[in-house]
Amino acid sequence: MPKLQTLIETLHRDLQPVREGAVASYIPELAKVDPQRFGISGVTTDGQVFEVGDTAHNFTFQSLPMFFVSVMALEDHGREVLRDRVGVEPTGDPFNSIIRLDEGSKRPYNPMINAGAIATTSLIKGKNPTDKLNRLLAMFEGYMGHDIFVDMPTFMSERATGHRNRAMAHLMLNFGMIGEDIETALDLYFQQCAVMVTCHDLAVMAATLANQGQNPITQQRAVRPDYVRDLLSVMYTCGMYNRAGEWAYRVGIPAKSGVSGGILAVVPGRAGIATFSPAIDEHGNSVRGVRVFEGLSQEYGLHLFDLSMGRCSFAKAIEHPAN
Ligand code: GLU
Repeated sequence: MPKLQTLIETLHRDLQPVREGAVASYIPELAKVDPQRFGISGVTTDGQVFEVGDTAHNFTFQSLPMFFVSVMALEDHGREVLRDRVGVEPTGDPFNSIIRLDEGSKRPYNPMINAGAIATTSLIKGKNPTDKLNRLLAMFEGYMGHDIFVDMPTFMSERATGHRNRAMAHLMLNFGMIGEDIETALDLYFQQCAVMVTCHDLAVMAATLANQGQNPITQQRAVRPDYVRDLLSVMYTCGMYNRAGEWAYRVGIPAKSGVSGGILAVVPGRAGIATFSPAIDEHGNSVRGVRVFEGLSQEYGLHLFDLSMGRCSFAKAIEHPAN
């Protein structure tokens, strides 16, 4: 059984020639990214780091932080209010679909797709728009352990072209699902999508969730363990857009994808793993990223319902050299 470092190096080398998929171009700034960038990062719950490729390269969050924004909304308002405004059901529709908003309960199906992400973001408390943004940035910094910033050109680009997002916000305002000040909510959503992160940052965030909400590098508690359970369930069923079912079937661990080409995934109790490769498929998921996780899951039996390997192969692959 290969060690994690050996396996990610092999997957990185084998998948580097893959040319399928394309960089998201509906947000003009995203189209400028080099499609050949490729990084894989793993951070264990005992703080070890395994990395290969472009793990320190900056790219934008897009919807990758929705889990963490949901946690802040939970902390600001509690479970009842959040569940009133946003569901926990997968849609089977594209991430930017508006169609289901106008039927049934009038509330977005889940917080991982655009409508739900906008509704969740609108719940973030703050004295004014700057205060709300600063609270979000401080929360992300808590997970990552360093300063972060919003990439202005991406923010402006999202804001100038986000007509579908604006339409969703208006529809939700019409249903009373979000408050009057939709421009503030939309700006906060666009700003959070434009925050710069690295593949390493995503792995640390995922490892914090794998470690029941405690950052394994800084040892700081970032989230209550019961919130981790709530939201990992949503990530498992809704985190990979309208390929979430296929992902649950083939890979079998909670994960979240973003259109900038990042994927973060959680191996509960063991590690956070992240990939970055900007060419995405028709669902919005990184082509190479999905293949990395399929390879890892197959090799180590990471699937949560796969008990045939007894969980020990991954444990051995990340065993601390001192043990
Ligand atoms: N800013 C993107 C949008 O609103 C986020 C999409 C995503 O990563 O799911 O379209």
